Amino acid sequence: MPNNQKILCSVGSCMFNESKDNLCKLDAIQVSAAAESDSGAPYDETLCASYKNHHKKK
Ligand code: SF4
Repeated sequence: MPNNQKILCSVGSCMFNESKDNLCKLDAIQVSAAAESDSGAPYDETLCASYKNHHKKK
């Protein structure tokens, strides 16, 4: 993997997001399917499992 790879992300509610730069601050993330998903739709099959809410409510 090239050292200059970036993770572009616009999820502003995540504590790892740099919303002004549209970037994730982490060096790597885990992408996983939603629980019990078999729809084949991207929004079901490709959730960011590294997400942490700013307020840590969940
Ligand atoms: S951890 Fe996931 S949701 Fe959070 S900023 Fe990084 S890529 Fe986006």
